[in-house]
Amino acid sequence: MYAERLARTRDRMGELDIDVLLLSVGADLPWLTGYRAMPLERLTMLVVPAEGDVTLVVPRLEAARVVDQPGVFTVSAWEETHDPVALVAGLAGSPGTVAVGDRTWARFVVELQALLPSPRWLPAGLVMGPLRAVKDPFEVASLRRASAAADRVAAQLQGGEISLVGRTEAEVSAELGRRLLAEGHARVNFAIVAAGPHAASPHHDAGPRVIQAGEMVLCDFGGTMPDGYCSDITRCVHTGRPSPELRHLYEVLEGAQAAAVDAAVVGTPCQDVDAVARRLITEAGYGEAFVHRTGHGIGLDEHEDPYLVGGNGEALVAGHAFSIEPGIYLEGRFGARIEDIVVATEAGPEPLNQVPHGLAVVEA
Ligand code: ZN
Ligand code: ZN
Ligand code: ZN
Repeated sequence: MYAERLARTRDRMGELDIDVLLLSVGADLPWLTGYRAMPLERLTMLVVPAEGDVTLVVPRLEAARVVDQPGVFTVSAWEETHDPVALVAGLAGSPGTVAVGDRTWARFVVELQALLPSPRWLPAGLVMGPLRAVKDPFEVASLRRASAAADRVAAQLQGGEISLVGRTEAEVSAELGRRLLAEGHARVNFAIVAAGPHAASPHHDAGPRVIQAGEMVLCDFGGTMPDGYCSDITRCVHTGRPSPELRHLYEVLEGAQAAAVDAAVVGTPCQDVDAVARRLITEAGYGEAFVHRTGHGIGLDEHEDPYLVGGNGEALVAGHAFSIEPGIYLEGRFGARIEDIVVATEAGPEPLNQVPHGLAVVEA
């Protein structure tokens, strides 16, 4: 699998005229090699020249964690007294164009630029983003498992198993996190709990405010499974009976979210999927209150290509996996968002999240 990914990576390097690809921390490296670098002050870097041997430069003390992939890369472990930047520069030769991992620490990029007077430096995302965006069947299966695990927590929330009224947002957030772990995640990435007026802030930090009766409670949570793939889901519940206004807003949102999922067919430009959700929300008078893009790709990273946003004319292809998460936010009052992970397939969009989308009313 890694050999095949390396071949496709090199094809794309060829298309973009890239002489050497340098990958450090972030998800590009594990996608290509199965190895994830720790975000340390010590340099880890995969050196992928256009042709010839690929070398994984790692600190000696990290080398034991590397799982060999014969035919993909060889390991070069550096000692504490060595200069790993010089080692990488030596392996890179004298490239005209260098692509360097998007999340590589600036310090290493600056030091590399001093040793490699290459005229052209590009972000490696140009190479890796489109490749990683298209999931193979094993990756889709991983994302399906991650979404199913998040769904189980969402069902517990909707079923009233997680008490809300009288607890702080932070307490509920911590409980969502514990439940994500109990359902099979290795790590919790976030658990937004935004109640009442806080639900109008899309990325609200769960805090000390106590959840009241008669409030919208927006919960957006996700984590990373042991195999590295991520979940991300948003569901809203209401403590007690919602007002007619809130019900109406939620119905508009539910219709827009479902329409955008249906629109996510292979061949459709990403921006058109965004436009479908935005048009329905705008027609209902809430256009100004939908303050973010409709979705983001998901895989080894929570947010990756493709982005469903105005201006992105890239067409969906089979294997693209992404969120569909429109929201409506009325500042100072309340807000709502509904989010599913969806995979584009030749047979149509496949939503990986299966829990109901309706506004669940839990006991006040
Ligand atoms: Zn978000
Ligand atoms: Zn989310
Ligand atoms: Zn999301």
